[in-house]
Amino acid sequence: MERKIILDENEMPKKWYNIQADVEIPPHLHPATKEPVKAEDMKPIFAEEIIKQEASKERWIPIPDEVMDIYRIWRPTPLYRAENLEKYLKTPAKIFFKWEGVSPPGSHKPNTAVAQAYYNSREGVERLTTETGAGQWGSALAFATKMFDMRCTVYMVKCSYEQKPYRRVLMQTWGADVVASPSERTDFGKKVKEEMPSTPGSLGIAISEAIEDAVKNDDTKYSLGSVLNHVVLHQSIIGLEMKKQFEMIDIYPDIICGCVGGGSNFSGGAFPFVPDKMKGKEIKFIDAEPTACPTLTKGLYTYDFGDTAKQTPLLKMYTLGHDFIPPAIHAGGLRYHGDAPSLCKLVESNIIEARAYHQNEVFESASIFARTEGFVIAPESAHGLKAVIDEAIKCKETGEEKIICFVNSGHGHFDLSSYDLYNNGMLQDYEYPEELIREAIKNIA
Ligand SMILES: *Cc1c(COP(=O)(O)O)cnc(C)c1O
Repeated sequence: MERKIILDENEMPKKWYNIQADVEIPPHLHPATKEPVKAEDMKPIFAEEIIKQEASKERWIPIPDEVMDIYRIWRPTPLYRAENLEKYLKTPAKIFFKWEGVSPPGSHKPNTAVAQAYYNSREGVERLTTETGAGQWGSALAFATKMFDMRCTVYMVKCSYEQKPYRRVLMQTWGADVVASPSERTDFGKKVKEEMPSTPGSLGIAISEAIEDAVKNDDTKYSLGSVLNHVVLHQSIIGLEMKKQFEMIDIYPDIICGCVGGGSNFSGGAFPFVPDKMKGKEIKFIDAEPTACPTLTKGLYTYDFGDTAKQTPLLKMYTLGHDFIPPAIHAGGLRYHGDAPSLCKLVESNIIEARAYHQNEVFESASIFARTEGFVIAPESAHGLKAVIDEAIKCKETGEEKIICFVNSGHGHFDLSSYDLYNNGMLQDYEYPEELIREAIKNIA
């Protein structure tokens, strides 16, 4: 069997798959009225086409030619057979990974950034604002806006701004304006700085700033890199390509694994296979998150805000509370307090299984991968890999030749300081304490 299964450019899927056609997802609610949000409510923030997609129940949504054109810079992405890893693990399982690290920003994130920039530019929007943690999303949007000649302002969580200068430089190289959050640019940022002068910042705070900036400026809208239905829709290109690639070699996967921060790359890879499972096909979906931010495994399934300032609609999701600030000792990414409502619904319905892993075992998996398959992957992606390795070891015990596929969301070339900590035995495992979870959950809604 080939080492890489490559789709031809002209065999790329021409439509995204919308899970809302097959699964009823609880509507987002207006924070004041608690009624489902109306399109008008979201207009100051999002492009009209994005608002339409957020609530659409159409199963297939055409990918515009202009988006396809940019996708073709790096898509279709390869599906690899990880034979060296199989040999290392001495497993009878066959391991595959879908490699999203080949995009210019190095992750799956431009799959939605390009679509969002396109729809906004078509509607006359000149600038997009957003938040970023480690910088992957900010760099994806910086790249995408540049492809459509737009401006981009990125509110970057302060501790990452200080600790991860290379992603900032990358965003600036694509022409983005990058601001450490909390900042002096917004009223909310000023307020947070006054109340907590030494805060490391959080995604929730940065989202609040980016939304405030968009609402106050007519030529500007806001863009979110994960969680929402339209983002998951755009990411379905991953799973649709994977499906075609498996068909080319006449294989159907038994298990699909991936990591979850807000849920977009895993959902993008898994959702196109979900209808098969609902029709009775045997397939298992496993998503993996850090024990330091255990949203799906320990959070509460309820309506909560997407941001700290409570400006977003209420989303029905597993959540650790909108006040959640992840521990600074955690190096492994994936720090958002909530997750995609679509993914949460499927976890709640037991169609998708969630697991949490400690950072040392995650980096150990990443290290094995680098030494067998060669790629140095993002710490985020390595959570999904840890699930793959666990399943492959199980196959060794039972002798089952399962097909395990892994959404490998990005490369780790900007995460080398975390690898350095791991290589020197200086990473600490951390489990977010139950009392703090209970405390945070009390403040929900
Ligand atoms: C952002 C990111 C994630 C987490 O986000 P999801 O929305 O859960 O996909 C995972 N991997 C990489 C490489 C990322 O950049």
